[in-house]
Amino acid sequence: MQHRPRRSPTPSDAPASAGIRARIRTRAAGRGRTRLRLTAAAAGLALVTGLAATASASPADSAAPASAPPPAASGAQQVEYFGPDGHPRHTTVPVATPKRLAGPQRARSAAELAADGDVTSVIRNGATAKKVDVVFIGDGYTLAQQKDFHADAKAKWAQISKVEPYASNRKLFNVWTVDAVSNQSGVSGDPGKDVVKDTALDAHFWCDGIERLLCVDTGKVESYAGKAPDADLVIVLGNSRKYGGAGYNDITSPVGYDGIATASSDHPDSAQVAVHETGHSLGKLADEYVYDTNGTYTGAEPSAPNITKMSVAEMKAKKAKWYRYLGQNSPDGGKVGAFEGGGYYPRGLYRPTADSIMRTLGKEFNLPGRQAMIDGFHRHTGR
Ligand SMILES: [Zn+2]
Repeated sequence: MQHRPRRSPTPSDAPASAGIRARIRTRAAGRGRTRLRLTAAAAGLALVTGLAATASASPADSAAPASAPPPAASGAQQVEYFGPDGHPRHTTVPVATPKRLAGPQRARSAAELAADGDVTSVIRNGATAKKVDVVFIGDGYTLAQQKDFHADAKAKWAQISKVEPYASNRKLFNVWTVDAVSNQSGVSGDPGKDVVKDTALDAHFWCDGIERLLCVDTGKVESYAGKAPDADLVIVLGNSRKYGGAGYNDITSPVGYDGIATASSDHPDSAQVAVHETGHSLGKLADEYVYDTNGTYTGAEPSAPNITKMSVAEMKAKKAKWYRYLGQNSPDGGKVGAFEGGGYYPRGLYRPTADSIMRTLGKEFNLPGRQAMIDGFHRHTGR
């Protein structure tokens, strides 16, 4: 179990309403997680051009840890990302934006300040307490580009919500935009590593030296997310065509949302990364891929619903994990069983199917994964 330092809200933060605070306390009570669960919660990120991510991270890659990464130290955050080769990886990045990117910033005009923080309801299906409230925040959009941002947010949601079980449950979601007015259009590190843009959330590719890793100042994100009535899931769109993204799912937000996903606004594959990331944040699902060098898992039974130490026979006998679905056809192909390898370990842990989206981008959630997502939706709908 691990506790991360909470970030102090910036002075510009809108105070959370009493209702939101009450929900945060409720959630905080349920925040105890095993070490494995926390690692899995590191956000899914990034970019695969036209090809599915493959399952097994290469130990030869310097960005791939030999084992599941240790808890991030104070001042650092864990992120999950998918490199251009499609291999999933984890890394730890500094919380603080590099100084060369963080300032100095031009003072914003009165008109820019007046528009900054505007909240718009994009899709409304019901009261916030009864719906999953998805909040999009844009970075690298100037005052004149806020309409573009709204269009990009709608388009991204359309892509995400095409995937099951979102598609069959669209009515469970409200979608909001919060305008963040940037001084310059585009984000740092696009197209080149040395490009610096003066933006509201300090979004930058080449985060910690990794081109496709799109980091943000999570404290600034929080200050904007707090302006929405009830943020349950936060997606930051960097105004860019470049392939990239990131996921911060180990963030404990006083605002009450489960993690932050970043994605480039105009790359077609970034929605897949966001969907994988919500598998962690909403579905509480573990990654089903492995690091080859990790060997055999010997820890406690993981809390995630889609990995287990148990065999098929043990799951059946104990009525545990995905026993209900054993032998059924799964939307990602094949039948649900117990496939060795998952939760970053090639041995000693089992996953429900050969190749779901929690293992390979571009795939479907498997049957237990779909149910976990639906359960996650309903954690936010008061049902
Ligand atoms: Zn993941």
